[in-house]
Amino acid sequence: MPPRSSADLVEPAVSPRADAPQHAIVRRPGGRSRGELAALGVTPDDVDVVVLSHLHFDHAGGLLAAYAAGQPPQLAFPRATVVVGRTAWDRAQHPHPRDRASFIPELPALLQATGRLELVDGERSAALGDLATFTTSDGHTPGLLLARIEGPAGPVTFLGDLIPGAPWVHLPITMGYDRFPELVIDEKRAMLERLVAEDGWAMFTHDHRWAAAKVRRDDKGRYVATDELATIAWR
Ligand SMILES: [Zn+2]
Repeated sequence: MPPRSSADLVEPAVSPRADAPQHAIVRRPGGRSRGELAALGVTPDDVDVVVLSHLHFDHAGGLLAAYAAGQPPQLAFPRATVVVGRTAWDRAQHPHPRDRASFIPELPALLQATGRLELVDGERSAALGDLATFTTSDGHTPGLLLARIEGPAGPVTFLGDLIPGAPWVHLPITMGYDRFPELVIDEKRAMLERLVAEDGWAMFTHDHRWAAAKVRRDDKGRYVATDELATIAWR
């Protein structure tokens, strides 16, 4: 089946190595992760770990190699361990009729067949150790896994579909795809408070202008994006 998403993957690809621990943080609105990684000199074979926030096709579709006529779907990062929240994994296997169309039916079996799927229950994964800590959110979809990584300019939190772009920093704004909008708002508030307190970067997946921003509260107490960055290419 042809890839269902032209947006391709926008998930962080993290590449730690035992001899030279490193990770790349790349994001360019409209960009494709493979192209963004190539610009940093990272090939698909170099990628050791991919963190999936959830398995909706516009986030997980980039795990599939480009469609080739007559060929079964293949994974784009052949060596990578794929880290997924256990609840998000369960949801992908047993979607609700309301969000069934958001998942790629072939993907779970492909990932399982690699023997390198890691399901995460808590704040850390075996594959990444202390490189990344995770927060789980259930309002957009059950088990959304949000990775926080120490970047060269401070902590970076990948916000997945909890806060998909700068306009969603405004607390009451939610997406039509969110399964539990009031829970999204409660989870957004907790995340935004943390980002303000730690002066951290919020990394966006669906913002057409900005890759990342910081968050502050304005004089009316509203959360607003600040210090917006059009591109991130840190390693
Ligand atoms: Zn989603």
